[in-house]
Amino acid sequence: MLKKIALLLCVVFTAALLFSFAPTRNRQKALRTVIIDAGHGIMPNGGYNGARGSFSYEDEICYEVSKKLVALVKREFPEIKIIETRPTKAITSLKERADIANQNKGDLFISIHVNAAPPVQHKERLADKIVTSYVGKGKKRRKVTKSVPQYRYYSTPNPAKGTETYIWGSHKNEDKEVALRENAPMLAEENYKEKYGDIDPNSPEFIALSLLKTKQFFKRSATLAGFVEDEFVAVGRTSRGQAQRSVGIWVLQATAMPSILVETGYITNRSEEDYLNSESGQEEIAQCVNKALKQYITWIEKQQQMNKGNALQFSTPAPAAKDAYSFLEMVDHHEHTRAAR
Ligand SMILES: [Zn+2]
Repeated sequence: MLKKIALLLCVVFTAALLFSFAPTRNRQKALRTVIIDAGHGIMPNGGYNGARGSFSYEDEICYEVSKKLVALVKREFPEIKIIETRPTKAITSLKERADIANQNKGDLFISIHVNAAPPVQHKERLADKIVTSYVGKGKKRRKVTKSVPQYRYYSTPNPAKGTETYIWGSHKNEDKEVALRENAPMLAEENYKEKYGDIDPNSPEFIALSLLKTKQFFKRSATLAGFVEDEFVAVGRTSRGQAQRSVGIWVLQATAMPSILVETGYITNRSEEDYLNSESGQEEIAQCVNKALKQYITWIEKQQQMNKGNALQFSTPAPAAKDAYSFLEMVDHHEHTRAAR
Protein backbone atom coordinates (compact mmCIF):
# COMPACT_ATOMS: atom_id res chain seq x y z
CA MET A 1 0.00 0.00 0.00
CA LEU A 2 2.76 2.46 0.93
CA LYS A 3 4.55 1.63 -2.30
CA LYS A 4 1.34 2.33 -4.22
CA ILE A 5 0.91 5.70 -2.52
CA ALA A 6 4.53 6.57 -3.18
CA LEU A 7 4.11 5.63 -6.83
CA LEU A 8 0.92 7.62 -7.08
CA LEU A 9 2.55 10.66 -5.50
CA CYS A 10 5.43 10.27 -7.90
CA VAL A 11 3.06 10.21 -10.90
CA VAL A 12 1.08 13.19 -9.61
CA PHE A 13 4.26 15.16 -8.97
CA THR A 14 5.68 14.38 -12.41
CA ALA A 15 2.39 15.28 -14.06
CA ALA A 16 2.25 18.56 -12.16
CA LEU A 17 5.80 19.31 -13.19
CA LEU A 18 5.08 18.56 -16.83
CA PHE A 19 1.88 20.59 -16.74
CA SER A 20 3.68 23.58 -15.36
CA PHE A 21 5.72 23.77 -18.54
CA ALA A 22 2.89 22.96 -20.92
CA PRO A 23 2.48 25.51 -23.74
CA THR A 24 -1.21 26.03 -22.92
CA ARG A 25 -0.14 27.83 -19.76
CA ASN A 26 2.10 30.21 -21.63
CA ARG A 27 -0.31 33.11 -21.62
CA GLN A 28 -0.63 32.99 -17.90
CA LYS A 29 3.12 32.93 -17.59
CA ALA A 30 3.87 35.53 -20.21
CA LEU A 31 2.08 38.07 -18.11
CA ARG A 32 0.92 37.31 -14.60
CA THR A 33 0.61 40.75 -13.07
CA VAL A 34 -0.05 44.02 -14.85
CA ILE A 35 0.24 47.32 -13.02
CA ILE A 36 -2.13 50.01 -14.25
CA ASP A 37 -1.05 53.45 -13.16
CA ALA A 38 -3.49 56.35 -13.42
CA GLY A 39 -1.34 59.47 -13.43
CA HIS A 40 -1.52 62.27 -10.85
CA GLY A 41 -4.55 62.64 -8.53
CA ILE A 42 -6.29 64.91 -6.08
CA MET A 43 -3.92 66.16 -3.39
CA PRO A 44 -4.82 66.10 0.32
CA ASN A 45 -5.53 69.85 0.13
CA GLY A 46 -8.09 69.19 -2.62
CA GLY A 47 -5.93 70.56 -5.41
CA TYR A 48 -5.32 68.88 -8.71
CA ASN A 49 -1.87 67.59 -9.44
CA GLY A 50 -1.77 67.18 -13.22
CA ALA A 51 -2.15 69.42 -16.23
CA ARG A 52 -5.28 71.48 -16.74
CA GLY A 53 -7.25 72.28 -19.83
CA SER A 54 -9.96 74.85 -20.45
CA PHE A 55 -12.55 72.94 -18.44
CA SER A 56 -10.99 69.73 -17.16
CA TYR A 57 -8.05 68.22 -15.33
CA GLU A 58 -5.57 65.56 -16.34
CA ASP A 59 -6.06 63.78 -12.99
CA GLU A 60 -9.68 62.96 -13.79
CA ILE A 61 -9.07 61.82 -17.35
CA CYS A 62 -6.22 59.53 -16.26
CA TYR A 63 -8.49 58.04 -13.61
CA GLU A 64 -11.43 57.41 -15.97
CA VAL A 65 -9.31 55.96 -18.79
CA SER A 66 -7.45 53.71 -16.36
CA LYS A 67 -10.69 52.39 -14.85
CA LYS A 68 -11.95 51.56 -18.34
CA LEU A 69 -8.67 49.88 -19.18
CA VAL A 70 -8.80 47.81 -15.98
CA ALA A 71 -12.33 46.65 -16.87
CA LEU A 72 -11.30 45.66 -20.40
CA VAL A 73 -8.18 43.76 -19.33
CA LYS A 74 -10.14 41.95 -16.59
CA ARG A 75 -12.73 40.87 -19.13
CA GLU A 76 -10.30 39.80 -21.82
CA PHE A 77 -7.58 38.29 -19.64
CA PRO A 78 -9.25 37.01 -16.46
CA GLU A 79 -6.10 35.06 -15.59
CA ILE A 80 -4.01 38.24 -15.32
CA LYS A 81 -3.79 39.88 -11.92
CA ILE A 82 -4.30 43.62 -12.16
CA ILE A 83 -2.93 46.03 -9.62
CA GLU A 84 -4.00 49.66 -9.64
CA THR A 85 -1.55 52.16 -8.22
CA ARG A 86 -4.28 54.80 -7.88
CA PRO A 87 -7.53 52.92 -7.24
CA THR A 88 -9.27 56.06 -5.98
CA LYS A 89 -9.27 59.66 -7.16
CA ALA A 90 -6.75 60.58 -4.48
CA ILE A 91 -3.13 61.08 -5.41
CA THR A 92 -0.56 58.33 -5.02
CA SER A 93 3.03 59.52 -4.71
CA LEU A 94 5.46 58.45 -7.40
CA LYS A 95 7.47 56.52 -4.84
CA GLU A 96 4.37 54.63 -3.72
CA ARG A 97 3.49 53.86 -7.33
CA ALA A 98 6.90 52.30 -7.92
CA ASP A 99 6.72 50.44 -4.58
CA ILE A 100 3.28 49.02 -5.39
CA ALA A 101 4.52 47.88 -8.80
CA ASN A 102 7.70 46.31 -7.45
CA GLN A 103 6.19 44.72 -4.35
CA ASN A 104 3.53 43.06 -6.46
CA LYS A 105 6.23 41.82 -8.84
CA GLY A 106 4.52 43.32 -11.85
CA ASP A 107 5.39 41.97 -15.26
CA LEU A 108 4.35 45.17 -16.92
CA PHE A 109 3.68 48.75 -15.91
CA ILE A 110 1.29 50.91 -17.91
CA SER A 111 1.00 54.53 -16.92
CA ILE A 112 -1.84 56.66 -18.28
CA HIS A 113 -1.28 60.38 -18.69
CA VAL A 114 -2.55 63.39 -20.61
CA ASN A 115 -0.24 65.80 -22.36
CA ALA A 116 -0.15 69.59 -22.19
CA ALA A 117 1.63 72.26 -24.19
CA PRO A 118 2.17 75.88 -23.16
CA PRO A 119 0.19 78.60 -24.99
CA VAL A 120 1.86 80.06 -28.08
CA GLN A 121 3.07 83.64 -27.45
CA HIS A 122 2.59 86.19 -30.20
CA LYS A 123 4.00 89.69 -30.80
CA GLU A 124 2.17 91.74 -33.39
CA ARG A 125 3.37 95.12 -34.70
CA LEU A 126 0.62 97.72 -34.78
CA ALA A 127 0.56 101.15 -36.42
CA ASP A 128 3.26 103.46 -35.02
CA LYS A 129 2.18 105.93 -32.42
CA ILE A 130 3.02 109.54 -33.18
CA VAL A 131 4.38 111.15 -30.05
CA THR A 132 4.51 114.95 -29.98
CA SER A 133 6.76 116.94 -27.75
CA TYR A 134 8.18 120.46 -27.58
CA VAL A 135 11.79 121.48 -27.36
CA GLY A 136 13.40 124.80 -26.71
CA LYS A 137 12.13 127.89 -24.93
CA GLY A 138 10.47 131.17 -25.93
CA LYS A 139 10.80 131.94 -29.64
CA LYS A 140 12.93 128.87 -30.20
CA ARG A 141 10.29 126.59 -28.88
CA ARG A 142 9.22 124.09 -31.53
CA LYS A 143 7.19 121.03 -31.93
CA VAL A 144 8.84 117.67 -32.65
CA THR A 145 7.11 114.47 -33.51
CA LYS A 146 8.47 110.99 -33.57
CA SER A 147 6.88 107.70 -34.34
CA VAL A 148 7.11 104.96 -31.73
CA PRO A 149 6.53 101.36 -32.80
CA GLN A 150 3.59 99.73 -31.06
CA TYR A 151 3.19 96.04 -30.34
CA ARG A 152 0.42 93.82 -29.16
CA TYR A 153 1.32 90.76 -27.10
CA TYR A 154 -1.09 87.90 -26.83
CA SER A 155 -1.22 84.12 -26.56
CA THR A 156 -3.27 81.46 -28.27
CA PRO A 157 -3.84 77.83 -27.28
CA ASN A 158 -1.08 75.53 -28.44
CA PRO A 159 -2.32 73.51 -31.44
CA ALA A 160 -0.22 70.46 -30.45
CA LYS A 161 -2.27 67.28 -30.52
CA GLY A 162 -1.93 63.54 -30.66
CA THR A 163 -0.68 60.60 -28.67
CA GLU A 164 2.81 59.70 -27.60
CA THR A 165 4.10 56.67 -25.73
CA TYR A 166 7.23 56.99 -23.66
CA ILE A 167 9.70 54.42 -22.52
CA TRP A 168 12.72 54.91 -20.34
CA GLY A 169 15.79 55.88 -22.35
CA SER A 170 19.18 56.64 -20.91
CA HIS A 171 20.94 58.20 -23.87
CA LYS A 172 18.62 61.09 -24.60
CA ASN A 173 19.71 64.62 -23.92
CA GLU A 174 17.94 66.41 -21.16
CA ASP A 175 14.97 68.44 -22.10
CA LYS A 176 14.63 71.13 -19.49
CA GLU A 177 11.09 72.08 -20.34
CA VAL A 178 9.89 68.48 -20.10
CA ALA A 179 11.85 67.85 -16.91
CA LEU A 180 10.43 70.92 -15.29
CA ARG A 181 6.88 70.07 -16.24
CA GLU A 182 6.93 66.43 -15.26
CA ASN A 183 8.91 66.82 -12.06
CA ALA A 184 6.73 69.56 -10.69
CA PRO A 185 4.07 67.14 -9.36
CA MET A 186 6.73 65.14 -7.56
CA LEU A 187 7.92 68.26 -5.76
CA ALA A 188 4.35 69.16 -4.87
CA GLU A 189 3.86 65.88 -3.05
CA GLU A 190 4.17 65.79 0.68
CA ASN A 191 7.37 64.62 2.38
CA TYR A 192 9.33 65.07 -0.83
CA LYS A 193 12.74 65.06 0.82
CA GLU A 194 11.85 62.23 3.13
CA LYS A 195 10.79 60.09 0.21
CA TYR A 196 13.26 61.01 -2.49
CA GLY A 197 16.08 62.58 -0.52
CA ASP A 198 18.30 59.52 -0.54
CA ILE A 199 17.96 58.95 -4.26
CA ASP A 200 20.85 60.62 -6.02
CA PRO A 201 20.33 60.39 -9.78
CA ASN A 202 24.07 60.93 -10.27
CA SER A 203 25.16 58.09 -7.99
CA PRO A 204 26.95 55.15 -9.66
CA GLU A 205 24.32 52.75 -8.30
CA PHE A 206 21.55 54.73 -9.80
CA ILE A 207 23.30 55.05 -13.15
CA ALA A 208 24.11 51.33 -13.16
CA LEU A 209 20.54 50.53 -12.27
CA SER A 210 19.26 52.70 -15.07
CA LEU A 211 21.59 51.11 -17.60
CA LEU A 212 20.73 47.61 -16.53
CA LYS A 213 17.05 48.26 -16.62
CA THR A 214 17.35 49.96 -19.96
CA LYS A 215 19.02 46.90 -21.39
CA GLN A 216 16.71 44.34 -19.85
CA PHE A 217 13.40 45.99 -20.33
CA PHE A 218 14.08 48.25 -23.25
CA LYS A 219 13.09 45.76 -25.90
CA ARG A 220 9.82 44.80 -24.25
CA SER A 221 8.88 48.36 -23.42
CA ALA A 222 9.71 49.59 -26.92
CA THR A 223 7.74 46.78 -28.50
CA LEU A 224 4.65 47.49 -26.43
CA ALA A 225 4.96 51.25 -27.02
CA GLY A 226 5.02 50.58 -30.76
CA PHE A 227 1.89 48.42 -30.50
CA VAL A 228 0.08 51.12 -28.53
CA GLU A 229 0.85 53.83 -31.07
CA ASP A 230 -0.14 51.50 -33.93
CA GLU A 231 -3.53 51.03 -32.31
CA PHE A 232 -4.02 54.78 -31.93
CA VAL A 233 -3.22 55.25 -35.63
CA ALA A 234 -5.67 52.48 -36.50
CA VAL A 235 -8.54 54.46 -34.94
CA GLY A 236 -7.49 57.68 -36.66
CA ARG A 237 -5.64 59.44 -33.88
CA THR A 238 -2.57 61.54 -34.59
CA SER A 239 0.42 59.59 -33.36
CA ARG A 240 3.51 61.52 -32.36
CA GLY A 241 5.20 58.16 -32.08
CA GLN A 242 7.05 56.41 -29.34
CA ALA A 243 9.88 58.17 -27.69
CA GLN A 244 12.56 57.65 -25.10
CA ARG A 245 13.00 59.94 -22.19
CA SER A 246 15.80 60.00 -19.71
CA VAL A 247 14.32 62.69 -17.53
CA GLY A 248 11.01 63.45 -15.99
CA ILE A 249 9.54 60.00 -15.81
CA TRP A 250 11.04 58.80 -12.60
CA VAL A 251 8.43 56.07 -12.19
CA LEU A 252 9.48 54.40 -15.46
CA GLN A 253 13.00 53.87 -14.23
CA ALA A 254 11.93 52.98 -10.70
CA THR A 255 9.76 50.06 -11.74
CA ALA A 256 11.59 46.78 -12.09
CA MET A 257 9.66 45.67 -15.13
CA PRO A 258 8.98 46.74 -18.70
CA SER A 259 7.09 49.98 -18.45
CA ILE A 260 5.44 52.50 -20.71
CA LEU A 261 3.84 55.89 -20.19
CA VAL A 262 1.00 56.71 -22.55
CA GLU A 263 0.26 60.37 -23.21
CA THR A 264 -3.29 59.90 -24.45
CA GLY A 265 -3.76 63.35 -25.98
CA TYR A 266 -3.42 67.08 -25.35
CA ILE A 267 -5.66 68.65 -22.75
CA THR A 268 -4.51 72.05 -24.06
CA ASN A 269 -6.03 71.36 -27.49
CA ARG A 270 -9.73 72.08 -27.24
CA SER A 271 -10.96 69.34 -29.59
CA GLU A 272 -8.70 66.78 -27.93
CA GLU A 273 -9.84 67.97 -24.52
CA ASP A 274 -13.43 67.26 -25.59
CA TYR A 275 -12.40 63.83 -26.85
CA LEU A 276 -10.43 63.00 -23.70
CA ASN A 277 -13.41 63.89 -21.55
CA SER A 278 -15.97 61.96 -23.59
CA GLU A 279 -17.12 58.46 -22.65
CA SER A 280 -16.48 57.28 -26.21
CA GLY A 281 -13.02 58.84 -26.33
CA GLN A 282 -11.98 57.31 -23.04
CA GLU A 283 -13.36 53.94 -24.10
CA GLU A 284 -11.51 54.14 -27.41
CA ILE A 285 -8.21 54.94 -25.70
CA ALA A 286 -8.67 52.05 -23.25
CA GLN A 287 -9.48 49.70 -26.12
CA CYS A 288 -6.37 50.74 -28.03
CA VAL A 289 -4.15 50.01 -25.03
CA ASN A 290 -5.95 46.72 -24.39
CA LYS A 291 -5.47 45.61 -28.02
CA ALA A 292 -1.81 46.54 -27.83
CA LEU A 293 -1.54 44.44 -24.66
CA LYS A 294 -3.03 41.50 -26.52
CA GLN A 295 -0.42 41.83 -29.27
CA TYR A 296 2.29 42.15 -26.67
CA ILE A 297 1.24 38.90 -25.00
CA THR A 298 1.29 37.09 -28.33
CA TRP A 299 4.74 38.52 -29.02
CA ILE A 300 6.06 37.42 -25.60
CA GLU A 301 4.61 33.95 -26.14
CA LYS A 302 6.47 33.70 -29.43
CA GLN A 303 9.67 34.81 -27.73
CA GLN A 304 9.18 32.18 -25.06
CA GLN A 305 8.59 29.50 -27.67
CA MET A 306 11.87 30.48 -29.29
CA ASN A 307 13.72 30.32 -25.98
CA LYS A 308 12.05 27.07 -24.92
CA GLY A 309 15.20 24.96 -25.05
CA ASN A 310 17.00 26.69 -22.21
CA ALA A 311 13.91 27.55 -20.22
CA LEU A 312 13.66 24.58 -17.88
CA GLN A 313 15.03 25.79 -14.58
CA PHE A 314 13.53 26.02 -11.17
CA SER A 315 12.83 29.50 -9.92
CA THR A 316 13.40 30.74 -6.40
CA PRO A 317 11.69 33.72 -4.79
CA ALA A 318 13.35 37.05 -5.55
CA PRO A 319 15.04 38.82 -2.64
CA ALA A 320 13.45 42.02 -1.39
CA ALA A 321 15.07 45.31 -2.36
CA LYS A 322 16.77 47.32 0.38
CA ASP A 323 19.20 49.59 -1.41
CA ALA A 324 20.17 50.34 -4.97
CA TYR A 325 22.53 47.36 -5.22
CA SER A 326 20.12 44.79 -3.89
CA PHE A 327 17.44 46.39 -6.00
CA LEU A 328 19.72 45.90 -8.98
CA GLU A 329 20.21 42.27 -7.99
CA MET A 330 16.49 41.84 -7.59
CA VAL A 331 15.91 43.19 -11.07
CA ASP A 332 18.49 40.79 -12.43
CA HIS A 333 17.08 37.89 -10.49
CA HIS A 334 13.54 38.72 -11.44
CA GLU A 335 14.44 38.77 -15.11
CA HIS A 336 16.34 35.49 -14.93
CA THR A 337 13.61 33.63 -13.11
CA ARG A 338 11.09 35.12 -15.50
CA ALA A 339 13.06 33.71 -18.42
CA ALA A 340 13.13 30.39 -16.58
CA ARG A 341 9.40 30.19 -16.03
ZN1 LIG B 1 1.05 63.62 -16.53
